[in-house]
Amino acid sequence: MHPTTAPHPVPVRPGTAAQAHELVKIYGRGDTAVRALDGASVSIPAGTFTAVMGPSGSGKSTLMHALAGLDTVDAGRVLLGGTDLTALDERRRTLLRRERLGFVFQSFNLVPALTAAENIRLPLTLAGRSPDPAWLDLLVETLGLAGRLHHRPAELSGGQQQRVAVARALIARPEIVFADEPTGNLDSRSGEALLDFLRDAAHRLGQTIVMVTHDPRAAAYADRVVFLADGRVVAELDDPTAATVLTQMARLDAPASPAATSGTGR
Ligand code: ADP
Repeated sequence: MHPTTAPHPVPVRPGTAAQAHELVKIYGRGDTAVRALDGASVSIPAGTFTAVMGPSGSGKSTLMHALAGLDTVDAGRVLLGGTDLTALDERRRTLLRRERLGFVFQSFNLVPALTAAENIRLPLTLAGRSPDPAWLDLLVETLGLAGRLHHRPAELSGGQQQRVAVARALIARPEIVFADEPTGNLDSRSGEALLDFLRDAAHRLGQTIVMVTHDPRAAAYADRVVFLADGRVVAELDDPTAATVLTQMARLDAPASPAATSGTGR
């Protein structure tokens, strides 16, 4: 029995940038329906760097898209600060994303015809605003982009392009930056530099960051790792190291029941 379909308000916890409460997301219908999220709950403390990990298909991207208002859910609530994202229509979610969130994707997603400087400013340009010059300078300086501002993306290395994408994500001082496998297309040195920056952005600038990754070494840069399996948050790890993340992942990959031990070993 489901006694009510009326949503219960979820109280906002102080110091929490975002909360997902019992999210359910179902793709498809009938026999082919997939429960991508199956009761996922998580809190993202403000000013922290959180990594989201889990086996392929566990719901990481779906959770991130739900937290960021990029996609709707079938049940549950998403709170961003005091705003219930799940109560907003598409137009208001789009506005909220533009005004309050930043995004970094694996594929950089820069506009090829714009210079690095124009790409960085783009979120503000779209909102009819100008950047805070001191903040822009700090980002450009910290990300080592000072000599590259007039280059177009095609004239930049992958690491530089991703640093431009990170500056663009932070330029409007968003409440949360969501990063989806941000180091996936980078060599290990550029990847490490980027992860160092993300960690510094959380610790020194108070920027809240949520990063989806499958790489334990990348997750080890975070303050906390949230592990998903089968559409639920099944574990959380504070102050992770690559070793403790690997151990937790091995546990998730381990057969859930003795009956499953006859499966193919990977
Ligand atoms: P992860 O990011 O952990 O790999 P996803 O969130 O991408 O997992 O996917 C979770 C589950 O939902 C998977 O079984 C996936 O195949 C399914 N899924 C994701 N997106 C779609 C979609 N647009 N249509 C149908 N199924 C989807």
